[in-house]
Parts: sequence; C-alpha cells; structure tokens
Amino acid sequence: MTVNRLIANVTPNEQVNNVHTRIAWHSASSIQIARYKTTLNEMLADVNLPSCTADCIDVFCTAHQQSISKFHDDIIECCTSSALSSIGRPTAVQGSGARPGWSRYVKPVRVEALKWHRAWKERGRPDHGPLYDMRKMTRARYHNAVRFIKKQEQILRDTSLAYSMSDLDYNQFWREVKRIKDSRKPVASTVDDFNTRAEICKIFTDKYSALYNSVTFDSSDMIRYLDNINLDLLHDSTASYLYISTADVKKAVSGLKTGKSDGQNQQSDHLINGTPLLFRKLAQLFTAMINHGFAPDSFLSGTLSPIVKNGRKSINSSSNYRGITLSSILGKILDRIIMNRFSGSLYSNDFQFGFKGRENWLKMDFESLFDAPKMILMPGLHKEYHR
Ligand SMILES: [Zn+2]
Repeated sequence: MTVNRLIANVTPNEQVNNVHTRIAWHSASSIQIARYKTTLNEMLADVNLPSCTADCIDVFCTAHQQSISKFHDDIIECCTSSALSSIGRPTAVQGSGARPGWSRYVKPVRVEALKWHRAWKERGRPDHGPLYDMRKMTRARYHNAVRFIKKQEQILRDTSLAYSMSDLDYNQFWREVKRIKDSRKPVASTVDDFNTRAEICKIFTDKYSALYNSVTFDSSDMIRYLDNINLDLLHDSTASYLYISTADVKKAVSGLKTGKSDGQNQQSDHLINGTPLLFRKLAQLFTAMINHGFAPDSFLSGTLSPIVKNGRKSINSSSNYRGITLSSILGKILDRIIMNRFSGSLYSNDFQFGFKGRENWLKMDFESLFDAPKMILMPGLHKEYHR
C-alpha cells in the first residue's frame, strides 16, 4: 500500500462511546439475529464492486479508489442498518431505575405513594385526616424501600446474578455483569480545570494530536523510501495478483471476540453474525484494496479514547490518562487475514510486543515496570499503544 499519510489527523468527537450508537447484541434473541441475517442479505444483494475494479490488476492504478471506498462504506451501512432495524439499540437504564431490586421493592410502593400524593393534592393538601395519613404512610414506605435497596445493593446484585445463572438466562447474567462493571467506572466531570464535554474533548484532541505528530522525520527520506518500494514492485517478477478468499475472511471473523466496537458504529458482532454473502463481499473488498494498494478513509480512521492510568491518582488530570485506539473492525479482519496467511514471512523488531505470543506480552509487562518502552507499536497496520 502506498504511504500517503504523514500527519496524524486527530479531530474531536464528543459523542463517541455514547451507548446509543451501539446495537443491543448482548440481548438479541435468535429470532432477531435470524432477521438480521435475512435483512443483511437482502441489502447486500444490491451492493456490488464494479467489474472493472474487481478485475483490475494494475498495482499502480488510482482510478478505482472511489469505487473501492464506496463499496466499503456500503457494506458497513448494510451491516449497521440491518442490525438497527432487526435488533435495535440498548435500552438506556439510568438513575435509580438501574439499581438492583428497584422493580421488586421500590416500584410498587412508589406507584402507591404517587397515587395517594395526587389524591391529597386534589383535595387541597389537607394537614390532617385519613388522606393526610395515607399520603404520609405510603411516602414513608417508599422512602424506606429506596433506603433498603441502597443498603442492600451488593446483596441484591449478587442474588440477581445468581438467579440469572440458575435460570440459565445468560442475557440477564451479562446485563448484570455489565452493570457491575459500569458502576465501578469513575467518570471525571472536570479535567485540567475544564468542565464541559467540548472543552474536555479539546484537551485530549490537542494532547494526542501533538503526541502522534511529535516524531520528526525528513520528508525527502520518506519520498525516497516510497520510490524504492514502488521500484521494487515494478521490477519484482514474482509479484502476482493477491486473492483473498471467502474462507480467509471466515477464518479471521471466527477469531473475533463479541462486544468489541470501533467506538463509532461498527461492532464485532455485525461480522460474527454475518452471512456467507457478507464474507464473500468482504473478500472482494480486501482483494481490491490490496491489489490497488489503497484503503478507504473510513477504514483507516480510529477512535482515540482516554482511559485512566492509575485509579489511585487524580482522574481530573489529563496526564493520568492514556489513549487507546479503537480501530476499524474490518481493519482487524484484514490484519488477521495477513497474519494467518503470511506470518511465516513477517518479522518484527524487539520493541514490538503485540501479536508475538504470550511470552512477549509478559516481557512487555516486565519492561513497563521499569518505564522502558515509551511507545510500543502494535502490529498492526494501524494500532498504537503508548504510555
Ligand atoms: Zn484499478
């Protein structure tokens, strides 16, 4: 592929990680997933890579980049639209409604308390008598119930978790696990003395923009490297058309974990629940991308998300965050296809730790204790991890 991007472009987006951009895959029923597959196939039937692009074997061709980008974006759109119409978004659970035991202990007494409160108001808010007493009693029951579930939160959560396991209700089980995980996540309302989403987002945008563009280079050196690669390609008689098969895609997808997101609208489950037709279209896309040495903009973009480095230090300081990049799910698939097919021909230097087996991850942990690697370039075609 041609290297045409020397500047990392970091743009702010306050909306990422918004739960509503996600699809409720974790609670999808088998009927909904079947509907997703059917809708996906129907939509994909109209999405095709023009034959002049698919059949093009010119490695220096730049005429088909637009049709490759469109094909890529259309496939993503088919996946996201089918999932949205067949499965939908997660139901937002906020505030007291998210507390374990709310429906069982609080909801009924709250309804009763509200009923008597309304009746008491309609009768001119009397300060004594049966209505006054009923309102007072039901309100007290309601407040007691809220206090009870607050006090017993952990026990009620554990009980709910145990019931979902004993009933083999895995969706409920994972919902509870997710709630526990989310409830422990600290969220800072102020970072470096700024407190609006836009300001906080800008702090991190500026920080990562400076960081990712901090390595200086000589642009004439880069041009020389590019020219050398292109010359090698031109004179390499062994270079041939590279074909990515449906089986390659299927194998790569089988290694994906569920519930992974690119931070915007792609989720690993869109592919895990994909159909043979989707895998065939993806194989055509990757084949065209590789043989044209071109990747669409949306394929190359990732979402940088700041996560707290040390939970014992202040979460209000931007220096206590590291950025993790959530990259394109299709990018992960292409990484895996290349690793599956060419790992024997690839080598990496000693500062790379990703994709090198467990031994090297242990090495990374050890070295990180001593603050040794300042930047670790992970495999990838487009993934970075920094301290
Ligand atoms: Zn072409």
